[in-house]
Amino acid sequence: MNDVFFTEEENTFRKELREFIDAEIAPHARDIEENNRYPRDLIKKMGDAGYLAVFHPPEYGGSGKGLSTEIIVCEELSAVSPAMDMGRMASVTLFGAPMRRFATEEQKQEYLAPVIRGEKIGAIGITEPDVGSDTAGMKTRAVKEGDEYVINGQKKFITNGSQADYICLFAITNPDVHPKDGMSAFLFPTATKGFSVVEDHWMLGMAGARVSQLKFENCRIPAENLIGEENKGFRVLMDELDSERTAIAAEAVGYCRVPFEEAVKWSTERIQFDRPIKYFEGVSFKVAEMATVIEAARLLTLKAARMYDKGMKITKEAAMAKIFATEASFEVAHKALQVLGGNGYTKKYRTEQFLRDSRLMMIGGGTAEILRFLIQREIYKERGV
Ligand SMILES: Cc1cc2nc3c(=O)[nH]c(=O)nc-3n(C[C@H](O)[C@H](O)[C@H](O)COP(=O)(O)OP(=O)(O)OC[C@H]3O[C@@H](n4cnc5c(N)ncnc54)[C@H](O)[C@@H]3O)c2cc1C
Repeated sequence: MNDVFFTEEENTFRKELREFIDAEIAPHARDIEENNRYPRDLIKKMGDAGYLAVFHPPEYGGSGKGLSTEIIVCEELSAVSPAMDMGRMASVTLFGAPMRRFATEEQKQEYLAPVIRGEKIGAIGITEPDVGSDTAGMKTRAVKEGDEYVINGQKKFITNGSQADYICLFAITNPDVHPKDGMSAFLFPTATKGFSVVEDHWMLGMAGARVSQLKFENCRIPAENLIGEENKGFRVLMDELDSERTAIAAEAVGYCRVPFEEAVKWSTERIQFDRPIKYFEGVSFKVAEMATVIEAARLLTLKAARMYDKGMKITKEAAMAKIFATEASFEVAHKALQVLGGNGYTKKYRTEQFLRDSRLMMIGGGTAEILRFLIQREIYKERGV
């Protein structure tokens, strides 16, 4: 694939990465899916090859290429194993982004660098049993006692939760003010006493990923594990969400590849009424529509990533890219399954997996409804009305 909107260097990177994934990851994709295998060893293999590092600066073992290259990794790995990229991305980008932007030099060396090498796994802990879209309603508390914080509460739907070594954990440090001014971010080692995994959620798709409910009972962590300033965690949270949403949009572009290719191939091979079904517009127009939304999704995602790498605010662009790409990926899988007919409903083809896997991303990382709310808010704000 040689895309004019990516640089020559980026296109070369994509080609090399695709070769690596085809050789090292693709042979395990069925095993991950069918046996619900968490691919920690393969995440490490990607770390050894330097592919976990693109989003981060060289000081911590990264290659400093930024979000525009990270979206290539998201797309390429998600096209082969959505669940594996979910685990990889939660570790390197969701845990990694706030660490990179707000952690101290010592914290980055101690906690970020091993995650970039794939030796340790990271996660981000925002959502709770009673708190989803309304993140400001967070109940998990962190109380300062001497040179420690004592943490109590629960988190739900945490990707990598049961596997993570470190969690970028959000908790309320000042309950007397609005959570925007009373929330803090912490570096939480899961080896801490009082931490437990309530359960790994049993899900519609993303077999191989681990998404967990977690409990924190009088967990004591050193005060120096604060990320950024006390009570300034809401800013850390908001900053992380823009890069997360762009990365998810890129994953969604990746989810389109297998269903689209299976549908195109099938439409040329399947004969009905004495001709390949691609000669019926009811089929070939679906192929045209799929190809068009995939292109549009990739460009919206690249725009958000390029703006992020230039240091621009991308709340609106990241939300647009995520809504469009995630809805497109579900639509592509849905149309492809229709083209495949009864065969599409069987597990002989992978389209059914991508239909289930892609459904998640209209929920995780900000629901489609919340993102529409954000976009309209930005539009009116830009106009001062
Ligand atoms: C597989 C998976 C992995 C996840 N990984 C992580 C993770 O790693 N870390 C983490 O912190 N979280 C994670 N999440 C949580 C995810 O971000 C939340 O599920 C999501 O933000 C929505 O919250 P909720 O599920 O509680 O739904 P709710 O917020 O309860 O929403 C329910 C419905 O109401 C709608 N709704 C709510 N408020 C409004 C409103 N104001 N206007 C219009 N509609 C509204 C929503 O759009 C939705 O349709 C994950 C979730 C899943 C399913």
